[in-house]
Amino acid sequence: MTLNEQKNAILLLMDFAVDEDDQAPARELLEKYAADTIALHLFQEFYSYLPEAENDAIRILRRLDKRGGNFLIAATTTKDTYLYLTNSEGAEFLGNHQDGIWDEEVLEYFGYSREESLRKFLDLNAFPVYVPVNLDKSLCLVCAVDHGELHRLGCPLEVCPWCGGQLTRCNCRFSEAGVDQLTSDGQLEKFIEAVEGKGRVPFDATDQCVGFKTP
Ligand SMILES: [Zn+2]
Ligand SMILES: [Zn+2]
Repeated sequence: MTLNEQKNAILLLMDFAVDEDDQAPARELLEKYAADTIALHLFQEFYSYLPEAENDAIRILRRLDKRGGNFLIAATTTKDTYLYLTNSEGAEFLGNHQDGIWDEEVLEYFGYSREESLRKFLDLNAFPVYVPVNLDKSLCLVCAVDHGELHRLGCPLEVCPWCGGQLTRCNCRFSEAGVDQLTSDGQLEKFIEAVEGKGRVPFDATDQCVGFKTP
């Protein structure tokens, strides 16, 4: 799905999910994030499964935390504030802001307890408005990891540790990892093992504009 197709799908959902009076500001906010996969995933998730099962509209997105291309985002709506875990692949609803985070896996990933999450995120005004990834020069444009973090697997901007080319495109999977295609889980695992053995190349924000070497 292209960004534009996804935006149109969300607009269609909004026809049914948003009250007449809230339509204009809700659409304006969507427009502000129209080039951002991460926000679009959140909008789509929200307007597909309205948390209270009644009409509502997102008013503001705040960035609460971030790690490895995963964003913890608070979506404040006309009714309440909800927490979402979002990355370049999708968005997951975590619950109401006032209840804190219950998901054990998410808590462990970010390294705090539910009580700590309640305390840490109590004052939403202390957290910045979520900025689209393409406007944040410190992030990988595609998978949104920070400088020094490993790209999310399959990110087309990951540099191949063997040839310096584009890892998702070069021929090193055949010549170095010894797999002939990446269609089965077994082959993919073998490839990951080989590339991790060699040492994956983390995202370098200072190198954003430099093209890949031609092998
Ligand atoms: Zn990336
Ligand atoms: Zn290569």
